[in-house]
Amino acid sequence: MAHKLFLLPGDGIGTEIMAEVETLIAHLNAEGLTDFETDTGLVGGSAYDAYGVAISDADMEKALAADAVIFGAVGGPKWDNVAYDVRPEAGLLRLRKDLKLFANLRPAICYPALADASSLKRELVEGLDILIVRELTGGVYFGEPKEITDLGNGQKRAVDTQVYESYEIDRICRVAFDLAGTRRKLVHSSDKKNVMKSGVLWDEIAHQVAKDYPDITFKHILADNCAMQLVRNPKQFDVIVTDNLFGDILSDAAAMLTGSLGMLPSASLGAPDPVTGKRKALYEPVHGSAPDIAGKGVANPIAMIASFAMALRYSFGMVELADRVEAAIAGVLDAGLRSADIMQEGCRQVSTDEMGAAIIARL
Ligand code: NAD
Repeated sequence: MAHKLFLLPGDGIGTEIMAEVETLIAHLNAEGLTDFETDTGLVGGSAYDAYGVAISDADMEKALAADAVIFGAVGGPKWDNVAYDVRPEAGLLRLRKDLKLFANLRPAICYPALADASSLKRELVEGLDILIVRELTGGVYFGEPKEITDLGNGQKRAVDTQVYESYEIDRICRVAFDLAGTRRKLVHSSDKKNVMKSGVLWDEIAHQVAKDYPDITFKHILADNCAMQLVRNPKQFDVIVTDNLFGDILSDAAAMLTGSLGMLPSASLGAPDPVTGKRKALYEPVHGSAPDIAGKGVANPIAMIASFAMALRYSFGMVELADRVEAAIAGVLDAGLRSADIMQEGCRQVSTDEMGAAIIARL
C-alpha cells in the first residue's frame, strides 16, 4: 500500500528546498524503490494569505491522516505584524500540539568534507553521528505555576515549574532506546539528579526502561558534564535522551559541532498508535525561511533532504535507503559541490536545484 506524505513547504526558501524533496520522491517512486503518495498544503504566511489562519482545519485533517508530514519553514517580514494567534509559527505549534509530538530528534552528523568548517578540530568531529532525543511537551517550559509576582516591597519573584510525570519520562526514554537499536546501541540519559527532584525521577524511570532493552548499553550523565563532553569528545555519544530544557541547549551545542544551519535536519515523533503501532511524525529542517536569500535559488537543500531521509528511516523503516540518501549527500560534498552558505576555497558553488540534482545523480 502507498505511504501518504503530506508536504507543507511554507514560506520563503521553504518552497525552494521542498521542490528538491519532491523531485527526489518522484525519482524514488519511478525507480520502484518507494511508493509514496503526496499531497501539498499551506502553512505559515502562505496559509494566512489564503485563509487568514496559519494552517487551515482542512490541511490539519490531512496532516493527521498522513503517515508523515514533511515541513519546510515558515515566516518572513511580510507577516511580522499579523495578529499573534495567526502568526506563521502558530501553524507549526498547532501541528506539534494536534499531532501530539512529544519527542524531538536532532541528529548532529559531521560530513567528512565539512569537518574543517567546525569550530572543533577535525579529528574530534570527523564522522560524528549523535542523535539527541529531547522531550518536547513537558518540563519547565510548560509547568505551572509560571509567573512573576510583585512582592510589594520593591522586589519581584519569578517562578517556573520543572515538572515531569513518570509516563512522560517513560515514553521519551522508550523512543531513545528504540532508536538506539537502529544505531550503535548506546544511550546516555542526561539530567541533574544531583540537585533536582525531577532529575531523580528521570533517572529512576530511565533505569527502569533500560531493563527492557538488554542489548542496549545505558549510561547516566549529568547535564553539565554532558555539555562539557560534547565539546571535549563528542564521538563518545550515540543517542542522548534528555528533558525539554537541557535538550534545547544540548541539541544546539551538538548541532554547531557540524557547521552550517543549512545542514541540520530534525524530526518530531508522537506516541505509537495502539492498533497500528505507527507514530505520528513531522520532519523539518532546523533553519527558518531565510527571507534574506528567498527567491534567489541559492538556499542549501541538504537540511530538507536529510529531514526526508529521517522520514525514510524513522517512519517507514527504510533504513538502507535512508543510508543511501545520506551517503549521496556526503558524496556530493566529497566531490566539492557547495551551496553558498557552506562554500569553501577550491570547491564549486551550485544552486539549490543543482545540489538537489547532484544528490539524486549520486543515488
Ligand atoms: P533563518 O534560519 O531563516 O536564517 C538565518 C540565517 O541562515 C540567514 O542568513 C539565512 O540566509 C541562513 N540560512 C538558513 N537556512 C539556510 C539554507 N537552507 N541555506 C542557506 N542559508 C540558510 O532564521 P531567521 O533569519 O532568524 O528567521 C527568518 C524567518 O524564519 C523568521 O520569520 C523566523 O520567525 C522564521 N523561522 C522559522 C522557523 C521554522 O519554520 N521552523 C525556524 C526559525 C525561524
